[in-house]
Amino acid sequence: MTQSQGFATRAIHCGYDPMQNQGALTPPLHLTSTFAFDTAEAGGELFAGARGGHVYSRISNPTLDLLEQRIATLEGAEAGLALASGMGAITSVLWTLLAPGDEVIVDKTLYGCTFAYMQHGLRKFGITITHVDLTEPANLTDAMSERTRIVYFETPANPNMRLVDIAAVARIAHAGGAQVVVDNTYATPYLTRPIALGADLVVHSATKYLGGHGDLVAGLVAGRAEVISEIRLVGMKDMTGAVMAPFNAMLVMRGLKTLALRMDRHCASAQVVAEWLDRHPAVAKVHYPGLPGFAQADLASRQMAQPGAMIAFEMKGGMQAGQAMMNRLQLIVRAVSLGDAETLIQHPASMTHSTYTPEERAVHGIGDGLIRLSVGLEDVDDIVDDLDNALGQFPAAQSA
Ligand SMILES: *Cc1c(COP(=O)(O)O)cnc(C)c1O
Repeated sequence: MTQSQGFATRAIHCGYDPMQNQGALTPPLHLTSTFAFDTAEAGGELFAGARGGHVYSRISNPTLDLLEQRIATLEGAEAGLALASGMGAITSVLWTLLAPGDEVIVDKTLYGCTFAYMQHGLRKFGITITHVDLTEPANLTDAMSERTRIVYFETPANPNMRLVDIAAVARIAHAGGAQVVVDNTYATPYLTRPIALGADLVVHSATKYLGGHGDLVAGLVAGRAEVISEIRLVGMKDMTGAVMAPFNAMLVMRGLKTLALRMDRHCASAQVVAEWLDRHPAVAKVHYPGLPGFAQADLASRQMAQPGAMIAFEMKGGMQAGQAMMNRLQLIVRAVSLGDAETLIQHPASMTHSTYTPEERAVHGIGDGLIRLSVGLEDVDDIVDDLDNALGQFPAAQSA
């Protein structure tokens, strides 16, 4: 397996040879908590790191090992790490790299639980969290201090689709001695590869597009081998214990096999839906990187192979109109999460981002009227029809 092979080929084949596994096309599922040592001395050597191999499934497991190789090749990283959830990945990374007195600079907009972890979790342990508008990289130059260890952001950001210029931010962060951690959940490595642009670590909620079928909760990290090994042995093994179950690793690997195919379809449909919403008289504003009016359309075309399949929009009637519209939908499912085959819709202010106080949402740019749509894999005409029925009832739509 070489890095010169295409994305889909590596997603399907990397790291596995059926002939090494009795011809089994599908990699074996290693349901085991522990691993036998040949001799007492060999066990000691494994613990001391003097010999390679598996010891206990809170450290490593052959099924997870294969998934870790696959996320590493797809992200263009040296190594990968599989964890129990996106939050398990994020917390394991940051607990490993930070100490009291350190500062983390984060973008203004973060996924709700990441925001809560920073705001309430890390701060409890003497770590300073500074929110900076990273859509303007120059702001980072002013904000960096001697204590800044990590610059952390999502691009596109959940839920309002702000983009951050990874290369520009990485240059400034590195000049000040900080590492860059990017949450690549929305874009996936099929659309954006942060490490090639200068990021040090990529974190994922594999629950979303990577798993892709709404049947599991999982997290992944990719980065330099030495740092990944430290996160494995410190953050994951001793601090969070957030290990992925081997069965979930099998399901994520199954999802990865069709990631390229699914993302092409997700993105094509999202473009149609975003343009349709943008023309609709009851809709006040659509945030989607593929629209010509998108504030960061230039950056989107430089940094993303396609504009993704997440759309945020606001109705003219604000939050109440949004909720009434959501209640009229018949095909689109009212649910949090994203990146599934089913088109999902939710209201961030009262759902995924209710971890922010109303004042914090105002400061951090998460509008109360914002609706988040994860465009699924159904026939796009059916998605548009459902929205059309739900939106057609509004006075703004009827008068136009
Ligand atoms: C869902 C999500 C997470 C958290 O992932 P879990 O798998 O739910 O723990 C983190 N970041 C982003 C951008 C997400 O959408």
